[in-house]
This record gives sequence, C-alpha cells and structure tokens, in this order.
Amino acid sequence: MASIFSKIIAGEIPSYKVAEDENYYAFLDINPLAEGHTLVVPKKEVDYIFDLDDKTLSGMMVFAKKVAEKIKEMTGCKKVAVVVLGLEVAHAHIHLIPINSESDVDFHREKLQLTPEQFAEIARKLSE
Ligand code: 5GP
Repeated sequence: MASIFSKIIAGEIPSYKVAEDENYYAFLDINPLAEGHTLVVPKKEVDYIFDLDDKTLSGMMVFAKKVAEKIKEMTGCKKVAVVVLGLEVAHAHIHLIPINSESDVDFHREKLQLTPEQFAEIARKLSE
C-alpha cells in the first residue's frame, strides 16, 4: 500500500506544497514545531533514509538546501535544523525546522495550531 506521503505526492491527499521537482517533494508538516517546518521527501518510496540509493540520498540534501534557504529568508531564523526521525511515517523524509536555539527542536513540545489560511500563506511565501 502506498505511504501517506506517496498519496500526498500523487495529490490524493492535500498538502501545503512548498517545492517539487522530478524526484522530490517538499510540503509543510501538518503538526509544525515552528512556522515554516517543512518535510522533504523523495518521490521514490523507501522507508529508511539510509536505504535510499546514493544518488537519491545526496540529491535530497541538495533539494532540501534550496528549501532551507527559503525558510531562513522567510523566518529570519538563525539556522534551519535538519532532522531525520522517520518512526511515524515509513517513507524517508527530512524535517527542516527554523531554529534560534537548541530547544526549538523538541518534538515533545506542543505543536503550533495554524489555520488553513496560515498554512497556505506560509507555503505561498516559501514557494515564491
Ligand atoms: P516522523 O516519521 O519523522 O517521526 O514524523 C512524521 C511527521 O510527518 C510528523 O511530524 C507529522 O506531523 C507529519 N505528518 C504525518 N502525517 C502527515 C500528513 O498527512 N500531512 C502532513 N503535512 N504531515 C504529516
């Protein structure tokens, strides 16, 4: 069965798209730690990131770099953290999270509650 992220890539499940090319798709995390929290996924469905072939894995980081530049520009954060967990969704993905301190990357923290309009506006700014 296709992963939830494959369904998002296929447009079967809606998402707030930030960027896309032939091999990768970036969209806002629905439970964001911060405004601009984005997920980058390969279109090729592989569960564990280090099971990706070398070309897909390295290309994913180059794709993520462009998205991270946008996040930094939009949020004015100090840095964009790159986090890989992958315990919830079995489709390799990178979390890009704008941070100003180490505590900004605490997945146990309460997530932001954003309205659909706020998500759409953030995605619009990041995809400009
Ligand atoms: P992980 O697998 O890295 O532990 O967590 C998966 C991440 O994907 C979580 O941060 C969760 O909020 C996000 N996520 C799970 N399902 C969806 C979804 O349907 N849409 C979006 N945009 N994000 C999702």
